Amino acid sequence: MSDLKVLARSRDALSDEFLQAAVRFTADRLRGKKKVSTEALGRWEEWRDRGQAIRAHTVSHLDFYLKQFADNARQAGANVHFAATGDEAISAVMHIAQEKQAKSVVKAKSMVSEEIHLNHHLQDAGIDVVETDLGEYIVQLAKETPSHIIIPAIHKNREQIRELFTEDGGKDLSTDTKVLAGFARRRLREKFLNADIGVTGCNFGIAESGSICLFTNEGNADMVTNLPKTHIVLMGMERLLPTFADLEVMANLLPRSATGQKLTTYMSVITGSKRSGDSDGAEEVHIIILDNGRSRQLGDPDFHEILHCIRCGACLNVCPVYRHVGGHSYGSVYPGPIGAVLSPLLAKGRQEQARLEERGGVSTASGEQRGATPTMEDDYSDLPYASSLCGACYEACPVKIPLHDMLVKLRQKKVASGQTSGTERAMFRGFRIAFASPGRYRLSMGVGRAMQGPLVRDGYITTTFGPLAGWTSSRYAPSLAKTSFRDGWAALQHSLGDVSKEDGE
Ligand code: SF4
Repeated sequence: MSDLKVLARSRDALSDEFLQAAVRFTADRLRGKKKVSTEALGRWEEWRDRGQAIRAHTVSHLDFYLKQFADNARQAGANVHFAATGDEAISAVMHIAQEKQAKSVVKAKSMVSEEIHLNHHLQDAGIDVVETDLGEYIVQLAKETPSHIIIPAIHKNREQIRELFTEDGGKDLSTDTKVLAGFARRRLREKFLNADIGVTGCNFGIAESGSICLFTNEGNADMVTNLPKTHIVLMGMERLLPTFADLEVMANLLPRSATGQKLTTYMSVITGSKRSGDSDGAEEVHIIILDNGRSRQLGDPDFHEILHCIRCGACLNVCPVYRHVGGHSYGSVYPGPIGAVLSPLLAKGRQEQARLEERGGVSTASGEQRGATPTMEDDYSDLPYASSLCGACYEACPVKIPLHDMLVKLRQKKVASGQTSGTERAMFRGFRIAFASPGRYRLSMGVGRAMQGPLVRDGYITTTFGPLAGWTSSRYAPSLAKTSFRDGWAALQHSLGDVSKEDGE
């Protein structure tokens, strides 16, 4: 991903007033609801501490819990597949689809499926794929990607949705919410009834029973997991909890942080495949557990906590950068502060995995799948700069992930690896030289004061050319004061001295 693409997308977003208003409106509503629901629960900080402790324990014993989860899921009749890369996960899905001679797939919301671009692969194979979460359905019709982890169509208004539904259904619809929801319901119902395979994500896997747990508000996951004969679960390898007691804590933290609800409308727990005597459930359940760069974060003192994330989206809602540019500007499946950290880390993890594999260190994918090695298009190394480092994301995070620290560390890594531009390096070298001695500092400030004149407007430095232009076009850069504090202080002392001398006389 090039710097220029990020800038171009951000510029487009900054000139889109509707997008900004829509994102701000929804994010504010979610924040407000979160405040009310967390205050009603009480002792929110203690809940956060508990959540953090559960995630830290699980991730630090991930090997143990992954084995326990896989053993118990298999015992309950599920097929468990481990996929080291996105390509391996896609191969596993395609293999199942071919075996079932699948013609149609219905999907509930799954960020992992977005991460591995599953829909494209299924469609390329001639399989009809339909997103059944209403927001995902809207962005699928618009041929876009989600712009928020929880509210994928946060950037769309009713009129835009009406146009999409009208085009899809070939019948003019009104903008009435009931009409639009009714259209989607009818369309999706047909798809549910005719689907060969249902694909879902996994909010949490419960190691003690091998169950998967899904949180939804529309009930679509229950249709996806019960109506088709085959159910495929795509799960990030870190999405485990040891026990149902831990799920109780997360069931309090996740909906409150995500949408400000006390409890999500539907919380479905699925343990294995349909057994004789069961009235519902898929006859065949496949759980695909994906690494795709995650395991490279394990044990990294700077970044392992990124695996604690429960994908609630609360950090997006409070981020001043996300609220201005929306999700698509990030160019990654994961936007906002979590995306600014997770996307480069996963990309780097994938590169390291691929390098190790090439050296024969680990065997993860076939030669054909080695194409998964990320290119520079995928490195996302500029995303850590999409932050004001205000720390609001940490305050909002229900499991206390220090995203702001990680953003700084990612920036440090980029600088240390020499990936920054020559101009930036020269500027910081200049800073270091100037700030290393009081004399040089005073001299550089004096030169700056003398030279800033042509750039100063109403007390602020503004320029449309040179390296400062990007900075000053979107930020306030106060001009240097006419007199430095030191000179002012010396003058004050001097005049006070004169006064006291006069008093003493
Ligand atoms: S980093 Fe925290 S706030 Fe952001 S999505 Fe993950 S759990 Fe939620």
